[in-house]
Amino acid sequence: MPKHLLSILILCAMLLNFSLPDASAQAPRKRGGSQVDLLVLGGTVVTMNQGREVIAEGGVAVKAGKIVAVGTRAEISGKYVGHQTINAAGRIIIPGLINGHTHVPMVLFRGLADDLDLQEWLTKYIFPAEAKNVTEEFVRAGTRLGLAEMIRGGTTTYCDMYYFEDAIAEETAKAGVRGVLGETVIDFPVADNKTNAEAMAYVEKFVKRWQGHELIVPAIAPHAAYTVSEEHLRAARAFSDRTGAPIVTHISETKREVDDSIKAHGASPIAYLDRIGFLGERVIAAHVVWPQGTDAQILKKHGVGVVHNPQSNMKLAAGVAPVPQMLKEGLKVGLGTDGAASNNDLSMWEEMDSAAKLHKVMSNDPKVMSAQEAFELATIRGAEALHLEKEIGSLEVGKRADLVIVEGDSLNQIPSYNVYSDLVYATKAAAVQTVIINGRVVMRDRRLLTLNERAIKASARVFRERIVKSLAASPAKE
Ligand SMILES: [Zn+2]
Repeated sequence: MPKHLLSILILCAMLLNFSLPDASAQAPRKRGGSQVDLLVLGGTVVTMNQGREVIAEGGVAVKAGKIVAVGTRAEISGKYVGHQTINAAGRIIIPGLINGHTHVPMVLFRGLADDLDLQEWLTKYIFPAEAKNVTEEFVRAGTRLGLAEMIRGGTTTYCDMYYFEDAIAEETAKAGVRGVLGETVIDFPVADNKTNAEAMAYVEKFVKRWQGHELIVPAIAPHAAYTVSEEHLRAARAFSDRTGAPIVTHISETKREVDDSIKAHGASPIAYLDRIGFLGERVIAAHVVWPQGTDAQILKKHGVGVVHNPQSNMKLAAGVAPVPQMLKEGLKVGLGTDGAASNNDLSMWEEMDSAAKLHKVMSNDPKVMSAQEAFELATIRGAEALHLEKEIGSLEVGKRADLVIVEGDSLNQIPSYNVYSDLVYATKAAAVQTVIINGRVVMRDRRLLTLNERAIKASARVFRERIVKSLAASPAKE
C-alpha cells in the first residue's frame, strides 16, 4: 500500500475515534476482564431490588440489552471491560421510570381546554377536536413529541391507549423506547376504525405484527365499561386469552361513572367487570379512583394492575384514588401521567411528588406515603402494574438495561441526605442527563440521539394552527 494512503487511513481512523462520543471514556482493555457492551461507573446506584439496596459508589454492566452486573464501582471495573464506558461520578443511577398510563399523541392537545370536569372536557372539547384532527400523521407527530418529552424526563417505558396504535408502535420502536401499546376499542366511530369489527381486525393484525418485539408489547385497549358494550368487552377478554396480549382500560375514574354503573348494571364498574368475566391477570386498569365495597379485593383476586394518575385526577377533580389502602391490600399499583391534555405534561417527577403529597393531605397523615414508596410506584411497582416486573423496574442482573443517569448536584438537589427525598421532592425532569433503554443510549448528556427535537417542535406548531382552525370552523356543540 502506498505510504500516503496508509497515513490517510490512519488519520481517518484517528478522526473517527475522536468523533465517538465516548472516546475519552473508553476503558483500556484489561487482561481477564469480561467484555461487555456498556459500563456505567461511579455515582449512587438506586437498585430498587428487593432489599432496596443503594450503592454509594456503584456501577452497572450491560451486555446484549440486559444488565449483567450491579455492584460497587471497584467490583464492576475490576471484572468487566466495556466497549463503551459512561462516567456517572457524582450522579444518581436509577431504573428507568415507568409511565403507566398515557394517550401519547394527545400532547398536541396540551392546554387546548383546561379547568373543566371530565364529561364536559371530553364531550365538548376533546372528542370534537379528535374527530376533526386525528389522522395517522397527527398521531405520528404527537407520538414523537411525547417520546422526546418522556426521554428527557427519564421515562423508559410507557403504557398507552390511542388510535393508529400501529403508527405509535413504529415511532416508539424507532425512538428506542419501551411501550405497552394498546389499540383503542370503543363503541362509536373513531379516527382509525368505524366499527367494532374493524377495530378487532386492526387489533388482530397489530398484535400479530408486534408480539415478541424487544421493546413493544402490543395490547388491546377497550376504552371503558361505559363506552364499550358487554359483548365487546367479553370479546376483548377472549382476544387477550387467545393471544396473551394485555388489556389496557379505564376503570372507576369518576363518581358519576360508578353511579351510572350501579343504575345500569346494579353493580360498581369493578363488580360488573368481574361478573362478565372481563378481569384477569393481564388487565391494566387506569385510575380506580372510586372502588366500592369489595372492589379492591376483586382486583387483587384477579391480579389486575392499577395505575394511579394523581395530577390528571386532581385537574379534572375526579377524586383521589385510595392508593395507600390499595397498597395495604397488596394490589399492584403503578403511576401514570394520563394524556398530556389533562395533566399537562408527561413528567413522572411531578407525578411522584404529587402522589406523595396528595395522599398526605387527603389522610391528614404525613407518614401515609413516603418518598421511597412514591419512587417505587414509578419503578418496581409500576413494572408490576404492567405485569413486566420480571423484565424491568429495578437494576438487577437479568433485567433489561433500562437505566437513567440523573444529575446529583443541581442547586435544588443539594445538600442531599436521603436519595429518595432528593429524587421525589427535589429533582425535576431537567436533571435527567443520560437515558439508556434496552442497552441503547437514547439520550447522552441531554442530547437526544434517536429523535430530531427541532423537527418535532416545528411539526407541533403546524398542528397547533390546524387544530385551532378546525375548531373555529365549526364550534364544538354539546
Ligand atoms: Zn386515560
